[in-house]
Amino acid sequence: MVNLSPPAVPVKKRSPWVQVVGHAGNFQTGRDGKLLKKYCECEQQCLQKLMNDKLRPYVPGYYGVTQKDEQDYNVMDDLLADFDSPCIMDCKMGSRTYLEEELKKAREHPQPRKDMYDKMVAVDPEAPTAEEQAQQAVLKTRYMQWRETLSSTATLGFRIEGIKKVDGSCNTNFKKTRGKDEVMRVLEDFVDSDAIILRSYHQRLKELRLVLEKSDFFKTHEVVGSSLLFVHDRSGKVGVWMIDFGKTVPLPSPLILDHRSPWVEGNREDGYLWGLDNFIDILTSMLPM
Ligand code: ATP
Ligand code: MG
Ligand code: MG
Repeated sequence: MVNLSPPAVPVKKRSPWVQVVGHAGNFQTGRDGKLLKKYCECEQQCLQKLMNDKLRPYVPGYYGVTQKDEQDYNVMDDLLADFDSPCIMDCKMGSRTYLEEELKKAREHPQPRKDMYDKMVAVDPEAPTAEEQAQQAVLKTRYMQWRETLSSTATLGFRIEGIKKVDGSCNTNFKKTRGKDEVMRVLEDFVDSDAIILRSYHQRLKELRLVLEKSDFFKTHEVVGSSLLFVHDRSGKVGVWMIDFGKTVPLPSPLILDHRSPWVEGNREDGYLWGLDNFIDILTSMLPM
C-alpha cells in the first residue's frame, strides 16, 4: 500500500520565553516571537527613536503599543526566539542606577527611612553611621548611593543582575559581586569555559562600542538602569542587545554625554561606556593567547 500522506515537515519549535530578572508581572508573550512589556512612556519614546538610529541592530525591534485586559503594552521582539535552550545573562550598565532627577526628588523630601535602614543592616551591619544607628533610619539619597557601592556598579561601571544557565537554573544572587576576579569567575561559569563563545561575545561588544560612539541617540540620552542581554546556545549562536529603557531620558539640548567622564552631580554622565570598556577589558584578559 502506498502512503499518500505528505511527509512530516519538521516544525522548528521555539524555546519558551524566560525572564532572568525584573518584575514577573511586567511581561506577556505575544504571537510570532513578540514580547509584550507593560507600557512605560519613557521606554516607548526610546524604542521609537532607536528604530531610526544606528543602534537599531542592537535593540529589540519595536512594534508600537497594544492593549490586553485593559493594560497597555509595548510590543517588541523576543530576543530569545531564534535560540535553542539559550543561556542568558542580564548586566546592568553604568556607574549609577538612579537618575539625577530621582536624587533631586529624594533630596526635596528628606525623610529618615526605617525600611532602608533595615535593608542596609541586613546586608552590612557596619554600614550605618553612628548617627544613623541612633536614629535607626537612613535618608533615601544615602541609601541609593550606598547601594551602588555593594556591587561592581561603582567600581567597574556595570553589574551582573542575573544568569539563566542551560540546565534551567537561575541565579540573581550577585548583589555583592564587586571585584574583577569575582566577575571573571561568574563570566567563566556563564560561558562554561567555552573560548569560542567568549570570543564571539568579545567581538559583538567591540562592534557595539563602535556603534555607541557614533549613535546620535546615545549622545543625547542619560542611559540609566539599562541592561545588556547576553544570549548564547549550544549551537554557538551568540547575541548581545541593549534592553530596558525605562530610565533612559533625553538631555536638554545642546547637552551631550561622552558616557566615560566621571559623574559629578549636574553633568548627567552615566558611565555607560566606561563600564563597557571595563567589560571588554575583562573579556580580553579571559581570552586564551
Ligand atoms: P528592572 O527595571 O527591574 O530591571 P523591567 O521590568 O524593566 O526590570 P527588563 O529589565 O526590561 O524588565 O527585563 C527583565 C528581563 O526580561 C530581562 O533580564 C530578560 O531576561 C527579559 N527580557 C526583557 N526584554 C526582553 C526581550 N526583548 N527579549 C527577551 N527577553 C527579554
Ligand atoms: Mg532591567
Ligand atoms: Mg526597568
